[in-house]
Amino acid sequence: MRDFSKDHRWLSLNTATVRKQGDLVAIIEACARHGIRAIDPWRDQVASVGLERAARAVRDAGLELTGYCRGGMFTSDAAHRIEARDDNRRAVDEAKALGAPCIVLVVGGLPQYSRPGSAVSKDIIEARNQVHDGIAEMMEYARGANMRLAIEPLHPAYAGDRACVNTTKQALDLCDALDPKRSGALGVALDVYHIWWDPELLSQIARAGKDRLMAFHVCDWLVPTRDILNDRGMMGDGVIDIKSVRAAVEAQGFAGYSEIEIFSEEWWSKPMDEVLRTCIERHRSVV
Ligand code: ZN
Repeated sequence: MRDFSKDHRWLSLNTATVRKQGDLVAIIEACARHGIRAIDPWRDQVASVGLERAARAVRDAGLELTGYCRGGMFTSDAAHRIEARDDNRRAVDEAKALGAPCIVLVVGGLPQYSRPGSAVSKDIIEARNQVHDGIAEMMEYARGANMRLAIEPLHPAYAGDRACVNTTKQALDLCDALDPKRSGALGVALDVYHIWWDPELLSQIARAGKDRLMAFHVCDWLVPTRDILNDRGMMGDGVIDIKSVRAAVEAQGFAGYSEIEIFSEEWWSKPMDEVLRTCIERHRSVV
């Protein structure tokens, strides 16, 4: 396992971590100030400064990307299916322009939440079928752009509104079904927040193997968690044994960045430089 205690060269910043403190250009400037070498930007942050300007800022700062957040939300009623497809195609085009290695997929929960305006459904089995078909369709387009797709399983608390793929096993079952030859086109983005509790986690990480481990996200699980979406903890403030999960992914050969992704009203209320200083310190001590 790599030693992170001496420097933060393998720290990537998911830009949602400081989304309320500044726009994407300001975040990129802050990364340069703090010697952060990689980011994973969100589509809305890119859109608000403009794709071209965002791509130029990334290039000028010499930043690497560890992903692009996010594609997915495949579940919808029939009237919204084309919208979902086209939206994901645009995500591929943007990811390509930005130089991202993969698109992180949050696959969608029930249609009325994933694609607002869709007819109300309680059929989670059908939602999961749509996810399968939606990824298959997106893969065709992504293949043409040589863009990889990384399914991010989300904690089961999000099954209704954000993602009906809730375990690493489920995500890998989709990989096996849709890319049985392991072409490298499809894999997983593992986020400790979503998966730390899973009794099958270590065996599923071993099953994934290096080629399907496309991204590794870190933060912490606070006890109690007051808001499932926006009360993530800074690494070290919660109960996740982050090092043991990193050891498991690195044992498979994963040698990429540890991407810090914290959605937190508390951390959004602090100055950007203070948040980044804390991220760097915790990356060295507890990641
Ligand atoms: Zn994540």
